[in-house]
Amino acid sequence: MNDCLFCKIAAGEIPATKVRETDRFLAFRDIDPQAPTHVLAIPRDHVASLNEASDAELIGSLVLFARDVAKEEGVADGGYRLVINTNAGAGQTVFHVHAHLLGGRPMRWPPG
Ligand code: AMP
Ligand code: ZN
Repeated sequence: MNDCLFCKIAAGEIPATKVRETDRFLAFRDIDPQAPTHVLAIPRDHVASLNEASDAELIGSLVLFARDVAKEEGVADGGYRLVINTNAGAGQTVFHVHAHLLGGRPMRWPPG
């Protein structure tokens, strides 16, 4: 997608603090962190939101990729949250599907 922020980060056209990457996925630190660990995990291929996703293997692998980041960040044992905001009502602002990995502090329920 020409005008997609996360496609540009995946292409290296916009800088980001990368924490893990594979041929299919990239994880980088959120520019406005909401927890001590706040990493965004994305597929390199553009999918606008979970509503447009059709590749179950891709989405499942994205979740396991984010899980691996949680282990590397040292939050896996203490606990972490994966969030995929989908569309405006849920607060999605960047329309390239991404999982927020949040950890390093207690998480409240229900989320806001
Ligand atoms: P969402 O609101 O679920 O679409 O999440 C988008 C996230 O992208 C927000 O948490 C933003 O802080 C984050 N974000 C926006 N621009 C950048 C950027 N250039 N680098 C890293 N994270 C960003
Ligand atoms: Zn994109």
